[in-house]
Amino acid sequence: MGVETLEPYDDNNIFARILRGEIPARPVYEDDHAFAFHDINPQAPTHVLVIPKGRYVSWADFAAKAADGEIAGFVRAVGAVARELGIEEAGYRLLANAGPNSHQEVPHLHVHIFGGKKLGPMLV
Ligand code: IMP
Repeated sequence: MGVETLEPYDDNNIFARILRGEIPARPVYEDDHAFAFHDINPQAPTHVLVIPKGRYVSWADFAAKAADGEIAGFVRAVGAVARELGIEEAGYRLLANAGPNSHQEVPHLHVHIFGGKKLGPMLV
């Protein structure tokens, strides 16, 4: 569909290093397509990051370049993580920042999962 990557993928970004085992993480879930771990600076009682194993900067990059099986596997993994965390019934929030306007800090696609308390209204 011709969607361009905003920036080239940086193989030394912190999540790439976590995937290679160069930096420790507190793992929650792993399968062929995804890895989930606790955020180092949690903003809610449950704050977990889910990342695809492939080299994607953002959701647009992922949507443009990933194989259908990778996309399906990643989406299923996000659901599985929420279930495993035990927050499905009480409810939770997913968030994916993309690009400078969103304050995306780490240039490897990640979905935040926030839960474990009654969350406030979304702030934009
Ligand atoms: P972003 O602003 O959406 O890019 O979020 C990046 C997130 O990564 C922030 O919530 C950080 O606290 C988190 N983070 C940064 N470094 C690490 C790490 O080494 N382990 C776990 N989480 C991290």
